[in-house]
Amino acid sequence: MKTMRMVILAAVAAAALLALAAGCGGDQNGPAYRQAHKLLVFGIDSADWRILDPMLEAERLPNLKQFMTQAASGRMKTFIPLEKSPVLWASICTGVEPGVHGIHNFVKGQDEKPVTSSAWKAPALWDILTAAGRSTAVMGMWTTYPARPIDGVMVSDFLPYGSKREHPLANLVYPDSLTDVMVGLRVDPQSLTDEDLARFIPAGLLPEAEQKYPREMAELRDVFAADLSYLAAADYLAHHGDFDLFFFYLRGPDMVSHHFYRYMKADLDYVHLDPAKVAVFKDVVKNYYAWVDEVLGRVLGWFPPDRQTVIVSDHGFYGPRRSGKKGTAEHSEWGIFLARSPLYEAGTRFGHLAVLDICPTILAMMGLPPAHDMPGAILTEPATRDGAKHLHKLDKHRVDSYMALAPASGPEGERDPKVNEEIRRQLRSLGYIN
Ligand SMILES: [Zn+2]
Repeated sequence: MKTMRMVILAAVAAAALLALAAGCGGDQNGPAYRQAHKLLVFGIDSADWRILDPMLEAERLPNLKQFMTQAASGRMKTFIPLEKSPVLWASICTGVEPGVHGIHNFVKGQDEKPVTSSAWKAPALWDILTAAGRSTAVMGMWTTYPARPIDGVMVSDFLPYGSKREHPLANLVYPDSLTDVMVGLRVDPQSLTDEDLARFIPAGLLPEAEQKYPREMAELRDVFAADLSYLAAADYLAHHGDFDLFFFYLRGPDMVSHHFYRYMKADLDYVHLDPAKVAVFKDVVKNYYAWVDEVLGRVLGWFPPDRQTVIVSDHGFYGPRRSGKKGTAEHSEWGIFLARSPLYEAGTRFGHLAVLDICPTILAMMGLPPAHDMPGAILTEPATRDGAKHLHKLDKHRVDSYMALAPASGPEGERDPKVNEEIRRQLRSLGYIN
C-alpha cells in the first residue's frame, strides 16, 4: 500500500506539472490548484434525455437549463445487455468492467442477502483520491454498506433502512463519529405531509389515492423520504467540510420510474390501466424530475459557481415494454452526461460517451491520470483547445494500474435479517428480484 501510494503521488505530481504547463493551476499542493481541481458529481439514477428534453422545453427544469449553458452535454451509452444500477455505478466509480470490479447484483446466494461493500475488487474514485491525499464525501451510493474508511465521509446506502431498530446498524457511516448526526437527519416516510405529496399527485386526489392505492403511496413515501434523507446528509456535509470530490446521488428517479412511468404511457396499446388510477399517478415521474431540478439548484448553490461539476446517470429509462418485462428490461441504453469545467466548451452538445469513459474523465477533470487498465477514454469531443491539450497529456501519462488500491476487506458491518428483508421487499416491488 505504501509503495503504491508513492507511485500514485508521483503520478499526481507529474499530472500537476502537466497542468502547470497547460497554464491551469499552480503548485499541486497549493490552495489554488486544489480548489481548481475539485469536483461535484450529481448522480441521477436512470435520467434520460427523452424525459428531460420535453421538460426543458416546457421550462420545468430551470436549473438544469441554466447549467447546460455552462456545460457540455451529451448522451451516455451504458452496457448492453442492460444492467442493474449497482453494477453500472460500480463501473462509473471504478472505470472497469463488472468482471473486474466484482459487483454483479443487488443480492447474492440462495437466501438473497444484499451484496455488501466487501464485494468491491477494484478501487473506486474515493480510494484513488484517498491515496492521492484528496478527500471525498459520498452518500447513498450502491453497495457501500458497511461504510469503509476513506479520506472523507461515506454515508452508506443502508441509511434509510432499519429505522425501527433501537440502535443504528454498525458502520452505517464512516467516520462513526458522524453516525448519530446522519441518523438524526433521516426522514421518516410517515412524517411526509399532504403538502409534500402534493408535489407529485394532484392535491385534490390525495384522499382517494391514500384510500384506494395504499401500496403505491407507501412506495412513493419510501422513495421520497430516502432521497430527502440523503439530501439532508449532503446539506450537512457541504456545510461542515470541504471535500475535493463531493459525490451526491439520487436513487429515487429510477424507483419512481419503475413504479409510475407506465401511468404516463397509458396511451400505449399494450398498457392497460384503470383510468382513475392513471389520473392519480400520471404526472408522478415528471413531477419527481421537477423536484430533482430544485435539488440540483440547491446543491449547486452550496458550492462556488465555478466548481467543476458532472451530472450523470447510469442508464436511461424506456418505460413499459410490450413484453411486459419489468426491472432492467424497462431501462434504456442511453443515459445522460454533462460536464461543467474550464476544460470543456460551455453550452455545447456532444455525441456520446460510454459508461467506462466516465471514471477516466472524472479523474482527468480532477487533474489525475487514468490507468492503462481502465478501458475507457477521457471525454475530449467538447474540450476547449487548451482543455484538449491538457486532457491529451493526462491520457499519455496514464499510470499502469490503480488496482493495488482495491480496498482490503473493510469492517464486517452488521447483518440484520429484518433489514435484509426490508431491502429485498423494495427490490421485489421494483421488479429486480422475484
Ligand atoms: Zn432501474
